[in-house]
Amino acid sequence: MTKITSSGESEISGLSATIQDYLSLLYVMERDGEAVVGSRLAELLRVTPPTVTNTLKRMTRDGLITMDKSGTHLTEAGWEAARVVMRRHMLMEWMMRATLPWSKLHSEAHHLEHAISAMTEAALLEQLGHPQTCPHGNPLPGCEEAVAGWVPLTQITLGQTATLRRIHELAEENADLLAFLERNGLLPGATLRVSEILPFNQTITVEVEGRAVVLGNAAAKYLFVE
Ligand SMILES: [Zn+2]
Ligand SMILES: [Zn+2]
Repeated sequence: MTKITSSGESEISGLSATIQDYLSLLYVMERDGEAVVGSRLAELLRVTPPTVTNTLKRMTRDGLITMDKSGTHLTEAGWEAARVVMRRHMLMEWMMRATLPWSKLHSEAHHLEHAISAMTEAALLEQLGHPQTCPHGNPLPGCEEAVAGWVPLTQITLGQTATLRRIHELAEENADLLAFLERNGLLPGATLRVSEILPFNQTITVEVEGRAVVLGNAAAKYLFVE
């Protein structure tokens, strides 16, 4: 069984990369009040539902989550470990910001985040000036206040101008979507105007840098603006 201290610095080095990936997704879902559903996890992690079930059982055994009638939830130790995983992931994204295209940061950070130590994490935080969000605008654990005022693009009315601030963590899992957004200049900081809303079509068209970009509601709900 993996030893995780419930206070102070979590020792996550004993957790496999797979468990760390599960922890970060469970963290995002619980933080946002989204029910943890096995099939949804399977889709996001690109594994089969039985694989998810087995891994969740292992995590229950190791004291990271609880599973009962009320659903699947992180334990105190699970939260603690997940916060460390998330923070290291986001710091890795920032570290590669000058080197890689924005749309590649998330997937590359996934390879590196499992290898950094608490010492490197602290040094990076310092060097990066304690960022409150990742390069996609998602909050570092403990910085949720920083993004609380931003609303999903689906809540913006026709003709309104807004600044794109955040591409939600669950959208970061979709590499094709990230590449599409980057290609069309839809990065945090971009100014956009909602030029057409077609509810029957489930699309929202935005103008960005003089170009019209059509987004499906499924993607638009993950873009947060100010
Ligand atoms: Zn990411
Ligand atoms: Zn990110």
